[in-house]
Amino acid sequence: MSTSTASNKRTVTVIPGDGIGPECVRAAQRILEAAGAPIAWEECEAGATVFRKGIASGVPHETIESIRRTRVVLKGPLETPVGFGEKSANVTLRKLFETYGNIRPVRELPGVPTPYSGRGIDLVVVRENVEDLYAGIEHMQTPGVAQCLKLISAKGCEKIVRLAFELARAEGRKRVHCATKSNIMKLTEGMLKRTFERISPEYPDIEAQHIIIDNCAHQLVKRPEQFDVIVTTNMNGDIISDLTSALIGGLGFAPSANIGNDVAIFEAVHGSAPKYAGKNVINPTAVILSAVLMLRHLGEFEVAAKIEHALLVTLEEGKVRTGDVVGYDKGASTTAFTDAVIANLGRRSERCRVRDYKPLRLPQVAARPDFVRPQKRRVIGADIFVESPLSAEALGQSLERLAADSPLKLKMISNRGTKVYPPTGAITDCVDHWRCRFVLRDGAGEVTDAALFALLQRVAAEHRWMHVEKLQEFDGSLGFTMAQGED
Ligand code: NAP
Repeated sequence: MSTSTASNKRTVTVIPGDGIGPECVRAAQRILEAAGAPIAWEECEAGATVFRKGIASGVPHETIESIRRTRVVLKGPLETPVGFGEKSANVTLRKLFETYGNIRPVRELPGVPTPYSGRGIDLVVVRENVEDLYAGIEHMQTPGVAQCLKLISAKGCEKIVRLAFELARAEGRKRVHCATKSNIMKLTEGMLKRTFERISPEYPDIEAQHIIIDNCAHQLVKRPEQFDVIVTTNMNGDIISDLTSALIGGLGFAPSANIGNDVAIFEAVHGSAPKYAGKNVINPTAVILSAVLMLRHLGEFEVAAKIEHALLVTLEEGKVRTGDVVGYDKGASTTAFTDAVIANLGRRSERCRVRDYKPLRLPQVAARPDFVRPQKRRVIGADIFVESPLSAEALGQSLERLAADSPLKLKMISNRGTKVYPPTGAITDCVDHWRCRFVLRDGAGEVTDAALFALLQRVAAEHRWMHVEKLQEFDGSLGFTMAQGED
C-alpha cells in the first residue's frame, strides 16, 4: 500500500486493478490532480496479483483496512477466475462493504457516433448489487443437477427502490421504471415489484412504472430515450447495463458507482480487457466518469462539472479520439486522450448540458435483521428433495407407503418445477432430482419438527435426500409457489 496525503484533502483508496485497469485509473488520477480535486490517494491491491499470492478472496487485509478508513474507493477492473475456485474479488468487495446499490448512468456523448445518435439517451440503471443469484450460494444437489439460490430480501428491495427514487430527485429526473421478471418468479422478482408499488406513492413528483425485464430489454433497443431511471435486481441489472452502455458507444464510456451506507466504490462497468493491457490504446472515459461520480459523492460538485465539461469538449471536438471510436489503427493513445482532457479543463461544452446535481440523500432503512415480522406463521408442509433413479410413478408410490402413518401426506412430486406425480399427462424429460411435496394430511394444525424428522427418517431409510424446505404461511399468505401443473 502506498499513500499520498496532504492536508485539506479527502483520502480515497485507489485500486489500479488488472489488465487495462492501471492505465485507466492513472488517466483519471492525472485529470483529477490537474483539475485541482482535493483528493489524496491511498493505493492498494486487489484481484489477479493477490490471487497469485494465494489469497483466495483476491482482497488482502491491508486493502480492507484502507477502505474501512477512507470509505471511498476508485477502482480499476479486477480479473475474475471463471467457472471454478476463487470468487470474484469485485463481488467480494461489493459484499464486504454492503454496497447495495449499483448506479450505472449512460448518456449520448458528442463525437461518439452510434445508431442512436440524436435520440438523446440519458438514463441510469440502478441495480441491486449484493443479493439475487449473485449471493453465490450454489450446490451440486445430485451429480448431474446444480442449484443456485436466488435470494431477495424485503430489506434489500426497500433499500434499492428508495435509492432509485432518491437518485431521480437528486438528478432532477422525472420517471422510474421497475424492471422485473415477476410474472415468472412471483416471490423473488415479485418482491421488488410489490416494494416498488408500495413505496412509489411516497414520491408523487416522480412517475413510477413497472415493466417486465424482457420487454425492458426490447424497449431499450427500440426506444431507449423513453427511460430515465430503471431499478432492477442484480442479474437483470448486470445484463441490461451492458446493453445500455452499447447504446452510447460501448463499455469504454460506461461508469458506475457502488453505493452503500458506509462505503462507496467507483469503477467502470467494463472489465480488464486483457487483450489491450499495457498497450496504451484503451478509452479511459468510463473510469474518468466514475471519478466524476466519486467527486459528486464527496460533495465536490464544481470540480466534477469542470472535469465533465472538459471531457465533453474533448469528445465534441473529436480531435483526439480513442481506438474504440475510430478504429485501433487510427486511434489516439490513452495518454494522448488524457492530455487532451487536461488541456480542455476550464472550457465548457456549448452543445451538451451537464446536469445540476443535488447531494444524493441515502435512504434510511431499519437495520434490524428481522426486517419483516409477521403476526402469525404456520408450517403447513415440507418439500423434501430426493435424488433417485426411479420413475416418478415408482418414487411416488414408495413415498406414499413411507408416509402412510405420518400426519403429512405426499401431495405431489415435481421434476425441475413440473408436476410429474400423480401423473398429469405432461411429457417431462425427468432427471434424478425430485421435489417431493408433503402437506398436512387433514389441512388443519401445524407440522411439528418431530413429525417432519420422523418422516424424513423414513424417507432416508429408502431414498437419498439432499435438502428439505419447510412450507410456511405468513399472516395467512402462502410462502411458496406451486409447481407447474399443481393445483
Ligand atoms: P471486458 O474486459 O469489459 O472487455 C470486453 C470488451 O469491451 C473488450 O474486448 C473491448 O471490446 C471493450 N472494452 C472494455 N473496456 C474498454 C475500454 N476501456 N476501452 C475500449 N474498449 C473497451 O470484458 P471481458 O473480456 O468479458 O472480461 C475480462 C475480465 O474482466 C474478466 O476476468 C472479467 O471477469 C473481468 N471483469 C471485471 C469487472 C470489474 O472489475 N468490475 C467487470 C467486468 C468484467 P472490443 O473487443 O470490441 O474492442
